[in-house]
Amino acid sequence: MLRTHTCGELRLEQVGLRVTLCGWVQKIRNKGSLVWIDLRDRYGITQLILEEQVTAPEILAQVQKLGREYVIQAEGVVVERSAKNPHLLTGDIEIEVKRLTVLNTAKTPPFLIEAETDGGEELRMEYRYLDLRRPPLQKNLLFRQLVTQYTRAYLERHHFVDVETPLLIKSTPGGARDFVVPSRLHLQQFYALPQSPQVFKQLLMVAGLDRYYQIAKCFRDEDFRADRQPEFTQIDCELSFVTQEDILPFFESFMKYLFEATMQVKLDKFPCMTYAEAMQKYGSDKPDLRFGMPIVEITHLVRNSDFSLFNQAKLVAGICVTGCGDYTRKQLDALAEFVKSHSLATSGLVYVKYLLDGSFSSSVNKFYDEAQLALWAKAMQAVPGDLLLILAGEVEPTQTALGTLRLKLRDELALVSKDQFSPLWVVDFPLLEWDRTTQRYVAKHHPFTSPKQEDIPLLTTAPELVRANAYDLVINGVEVGGGSIRIHERSLQEQVFKVLGFSAEEIKEKFGFLTDAFEYGAPPHGGIAFGFDRLCAILGGEDSIRPFIAFPKNNAGRDMMMKAPSTISEQQIKELGISL
Ligand code: ASP
Repeated sequence: MLRTHTCGELRLEQVGLRVTLCGWVQKIRNKGSLVWIDLRDRYGITQLILEEQVTAPEILAQVQKLGREYVIQAEGVVVERSAKNPHLLTGDIEIEVKRLTVLNTAKTPPFLIEAETDGGEELRMEYRYLDLRRPPLQKNLLFRQLVTQYTRAYLERHHFVDVETPLLIKSTPGGARDFVVPSRLHLQQFYALPQSPQVFKQLLMVAGLDRYYQIAKCFRDEDFRADRQPEFTQIDCELSFVTQEDILPFFESFMKYLFEATMQVKLDKFPCMTYAEAMQKYGSDKPDLRFGMPIVEITHLVRNSDFSLFNQAKLVAGICVTGCGDYTRKQLDALAEFVKSHSLATSGLVYVKYLLDGSFSSSVNKFYDEAQLALWAKAMQAVPGDLLLILAGEVEPTQTALGTLRLKLRDELALVSKDQFSPLWVVDFPLLEWDRTTQRYVAKHHPFTSPKQEDIPLLTTAPELVRANAYDLVINGVEVGGGSIRIHERSLQEQVFKVLGFSAEEIKEKFGFLTDAFEYGAPPHGGIAFGFDRLCAILGGEDSIRPFIAFPKNNAGRDMMMKAPSTISEQQIKELGISL
């Protein structure tokens, strides 16, 4: 080995020992007769010291040529420091250098390689290998590994088998867009990269594996959105002979275990809410329960006037913002502008200020008197000093707009903190969703999710009312995991495919392998997948997932370091039989 110790290892006990360290030059302080070098590796920083009277002149001369991020090997003796540094693990000692070897030179890095850096994100992504030298990012990668270890340990203790599933698979419709890979040996034919291992894990249940898991890469060709990666990682799980009532508590325990093991955070029992309730109360299927501000319907209280907007609306509802009754015109305009730019098909924002003297000032004074406004305030549990924000329109868009406004106020008023964790299960999702663009039903979760037994007759009469055996795990307003009990019978699976608009031929061609498998003894089964990158970010207290991914892509889906995607050669294009 080129070294005897790491840069994080030496203490007072080793004083007098001759050691050899290797690492990167983080900093050089040159006082002429005295030179200090901070030497860094993954384990820490050790101070090297060179003194005019003590160190050989040729070594001192060498030091003059060193620069930041040079890779060096330093041999010397461990000595006790006179001025100790309590912020460093090795802060009690330093190394009196006796021999120094430059293992490699380094260009001046484009940004500071220290815990706090001066580089912008794009630049740091271009030089990711330099960014990854910084302690916070190294810490994140090690943390991710820790979460992996605990995940594997927990699931394997409960008899889950880790199975790898293929990455070159068949493109299937539904869900997001597939990334496709042209086949050279089968011209004009394409593989797809998996959006998830969904069908494979179900087939593993047919195969009798009973419990499967995989820390799996998934690929989705979706439009760019902040903090979304075209490839990401899931903790993917599937179990046989289970119902929703088995899956939820099992994975709740798993989550509690992860929080406790990695963060020493004890979570209480997770509440459970139906999709309908989440939409009604929080305008979102992934409500952030770290704060209140529920949506309150007041449709029944607003019809007694000639305010046509409220009279015609399917839903009139609002939120009560505690202590904001003194909002200025400018602040209210900004909120109204926000609603306008973020929502579809809802009214403008109506406000009611509940003043400290008990009176009301509102944007609908012309239509409603104080007594009427007092009834709204009562319904919304407002007290003097509060602000009511009200929207009206079609049911879902109004709920969603209020939900978005609620989150905006959470951030504006700093209502939550990062060390609060509010997990919850959202259940009873609708099985289907009407897609306006294609004018057909699409699966809300995926086409393999089973409908609730009692709702199956609705598949033929009112498909939009069918509820699914599907569930999401939400933490702090973020969807961390989702899954369902699957269909395991050919006839029901074919019926659902038909409602989704597939012809009998398409079903056979696209999904025949799965429906065939259901005829060879498919056990009842279900599962869940957790977004692994997201989970690491939540556990690690970060908003973005990128710090937990070694080589992430930017918001436009580009790898800034390799410059991917990129063009390919004429030759490759020809071989693949594709024309551009
Ligand atoms: N495959 C699903 C997904 O990626 C998860 C599941 O249903 O288990 O969302």
